[in-house]
Amino acid sequence: MFAKEEIDQILDSYDDFTIATICSHSALQIFHGAKQYSIKTIGICTEESRELYESFPYATPDELLIVDDYSQIPVDELRERNSILVPHGSLVEYTGDGIKDLALPIFGNRGSLLFERDRNNMFDWMEKAGLKVPRILQPEEIDGPAIVKFPGAKGGKGYLVVNSPEEYYQKVAEGAKTMIQEFIVGVRAYIHYFHSFDGDAGYSTNYGNVEMLGIDQRMETNADEIARQLSVGANIPISFTVMGNQSLVLRESLLPKYMEMGRGICNSSKGLFGGIHGPFCVETIITDDLDIYSFEISARIVAGTNLLGNPYSLYTHGTEYTTGMRIAKELKDAFRNKNLGEIIY
Ligand code: ATP
Repeated sequence: MFAKEEIDQILDSYDDFTIATICSHSALQIFHGAKQYSIKTIGICTEESRELYESFPYATPDELLIVDDYSQIPVDELRERNSILVPHGSLVEYTGDGIKDLALPIFGNRGSLLFERDRNNMFDWMEKAGLKVPRILQPEEIDGPAIVKFPGAKGGKGYLVVNSPEEYYQKVAEGAKTMIQEFIVGVRAYIHYFHSFDGDAGYSTNYGNVEMLGIDQRMETNADEIARQLSVGANIPISFTVMGNQSLVLRESLLPKYMEMGRGICNSSKGLFGGIHGPFCVETIITDDLDIYSFEISARIVAGTNLLGNPYSLYTHGTEYTTGMRIAKELKDAFRNKNLGEIIY
């Protein structure tokens, strides 16, 4: 792992900073947010994506660094531009384990990104945070609908639902590395939080505050269109590939539980890998009995934050506010107060 002391030295050499990310996932939101705070932006972009990222004047980065593919992060060019890299889902997928040795300041804690890559770690974290989680099953224990997940975060692509050990062995290749979870039936809610080391909104944690900025629900094919499938008599296996997101508000009586969950996630992360800084999301399902099951934490900005028009950021910041803006504000404040090192690794 690239040493934290070296990252701090790089930060010390910055007399100003730029925000950089890969042109994908939530990049438009990140660039737009930085512009609201007059921070210069750098987009790491392929030639193929250039036209798109030049076509939104209020979210086009100030400079594009063109690469052949997104696994190549132009470290030297970014350091020359005093860049802080903002990780998002695509960046984490493209860089893979390489993120641990990246000789560049990364907003947040790279330890959290590495930790959550392993689903077993993530379940351990959720349990330590006091979250209720679906049962994890061995193939022989499948006693009802169970979702079978393969390694890597692929936006739900390729997952299966099986109902018995026999069906599992029939559909899953021998030796495949899978995690089998009890399939929870209920309403899905994906909560967007932001941990700030010196914010004044939200619930206090052991090392700052956790705010709620929004909630979304992912639109997944064909799970979310199953009624249409059934209405035409099509017999296609259920799938969960994410296609987009829509905004969600929850009954207000559920909010205290979710705020406590956000606090639990932050507090438990401190002992596990040094804490979480900036945006994160917990993916949940609320059952008929109002039990909240959590099945994933993403320790970075999630694509559901690309939505505007959710009331929770309004109540937190007094105006329509994106996670991209919140990231820019946190970095700008920390730069001004000379404590970027506390929220960057
Ligand atoms: P990403 O990392 O992009 O969030 P992923 O590939 O890790 O996605 P998950 O988020 O774990 O996948 O799951 C994809 C979808 O499958 C969820 O959004 C949800 O609709 C469904 N799902 C996952 N786990 C469960 C579960 N235990 N019970 C019911 N549905 C589930």
